[in-house]
Amino acid sequence: MTDYDFDIGVIGGGAAGLTVTAGATQLGAKTLLVEKETELGGDCLHFGCVPSKTLIKSAHVYHMMKNAEAFGLPQVEVPPVDFRQVAARIRSVISVIQKHDSEERFCKLGAKVEFGNPAFTDEHSIQLNGRTYTAKNWVIATGSAAMVPPIPGLDKTPHITNREIFSLERLPDSMIVLGGGPIGSEMGQAFNRLGTRVTIVDMADQILGKEDRDMADIVKARMASEGVVFHLQSAIEAVNDLGSEREVIIKKADGNSVSLKSEVILVAIGRAANVGGLELENCGVDYDPRGIKVDRRMRTNQKHIYAAGDVAGGYQFTHAAGYEGGIVISNAIFRLPRKTDYTFLPWCTYTDPSLGSIGMNETMAKNAGIDYKVWEEALKDNDRSLAEGETDGKIKMLLDDKEKPIGVQILGPHAGDLLAEWVAVLNGKVKLSTLAAAVHPYPTIGEINKRVAGTFFSPKIFSDKVKKTLKFFFQLKGRACSPEECVTSD
Ligand SMILES: Cc1cc2nc3c(=O)[nH]c(=O)nc-3n(C[C@H](O)[C@H](O)[C@H](O)COP(=O)(O)OP(=O)(O)OC[C@H]3O[C@@H](n4cnc5c(N)ncnc54)[C@H](O)[C@@H]3O)c2cc1C
Repeated sequence: MTDYDFDIGVIGGGAAGLTVTAGATQLGAKTLLVEKETELGGDCLHFGCVPSKTLIKSAHVYHMMKNAEAFGLPQVEVPPVDFRQVAARIRSVISVIQKHDSEERFCKLGAKVEFGNPAFTDEHSIQLNGRTYTAKNWVIATGSAAMVPPIPGLDKTPHITNREIFSLERLPDSMIVLGGGPIGSEMGQAFNRLGTRVTIVDMADQILGKEDRDMADIVKARMASEGVVFHLQSAIEAVNDLGSEREVIIKKADGNSVSLKSEVILVAIGRAANVGGLELENCGVDYDPRGIKVDRRMRTNQKHIYAAGDVAGGYQFTHAAGYEGGIVISNAIFRLPRKTDYTFLPWCTYTDPSLGSIGMNETMAKNAGIDYKVWEEALKDNDRSLAEGETDGKIKMLLDDKEKPIGVQILGPHAGDLLAEWVAVLNGKVKLSTLAAAVHPYPTIGEINKRVAGTFFSPKIFSDKVKKTLKFFFQLKGRACSPEECVTSD
């Protein structure tokens, strides 16, 4: 039997790679972790979730300060934002979390951590910093980077991606965001709130293309009301560097070309898998522009080499990367043939209002040819939403033809947190009647979860049949006033 240096070698120290490394070492596997940057943590910590949510919070506070009057408070004159202070706060939050993801922590767990640019030399070996490392199993967890499309002129025009946006020296006066997906929308709204004039350009006829249009349109309307300018159904024809500013030429749906100008261009059009430099040809691992191809056990076509996280091209979220890392542990260490199941993988876009989703939305159900019904509850009918001044939004619950819940979307404040109850309900196969009957604290926005389940049962409970039965058995007298007598308040 070949004697390899390591039981498992992990390439990439982000969410997926760190999950595998922590699990494998603690289970007694001799583990190598290779990271090309100088610190562990990956995109989520350094250029993704953590800095973006920290920035969004700063922008939210500033927005609230500017809108104090809406809460019955004195109007306040707010000075302009010094972006260096915002960037400093971002750095300080990262540095706290960095300790969790430090080389020292993983070394203490028992992993050998190496920094550098590895390249496969055969299906069990990599070359790194002039040395060869062999492992019985490998895990490729190198993540993704902003895809920079071949738009004429873009390569010659200064532009930024998620790698640069959190460390800008000053707040840009204006920004054109290429792409109205989650990253473009979150960053577009946040920078607009901080004082940048933001324009978002997208090919599609709605923002947040994976979401139902009715939900995405509410987010767009809010952003537009705050001053974000949208050019949807617009193809980007060319980008030019005009010296003091940048130009983006777009072609609108009516065929007209429009020239947009701004100080900064943010490219947020999509993500490309990080496979460059790994020399995957040498280990025979198949990949395409979407990423490395894997089966449901996260195995590549080389069964001893796994891929997990963004590089595998599936759901590109930190929690998906962590989940897939767990699947790798089950298969590579426990040798259990555990497979991925994304049926109830939740996600959230942290715009304001935020938009969380689990299971199927209407678009997905239609595409899958599933018969469904939607039950809705508006945020404006929730007492806490009114108190908070957060009435834009709603919850949608989709039931299939057997009245089984297949998905839920929540649009409103803290949508990601509100989804947690549905994570338990859907994964735990909890009955809707249990949710509808469970006492929720008042006044909370979370009551909409109970209310939407309740709306499903109300027509059944308060039906004529039930009323007639009760009348028959208990001689109930019925209405105390006629509908005509009722005084309406509106
Ligand atoms: C702006 C932004 C906001 C986001 N917000 C959220 C959010 O709110 N919630 C959420 O769930 N997800 C969010 N994401 C997505 C999330 O960041 C990714 O899904 C997650 O980081 C994927 O984890 P990963 O382990 O696959 O990759 P990463 O975390 O990127 O880790 C990959 C690691 O591999 C290293 N690497 C790359 N190439 C090599 C190589 N050749 N050799 C060695 N090491 C290499 C990288 O340096 C990196 O450390 C956001 C992303 C962005 C860009």
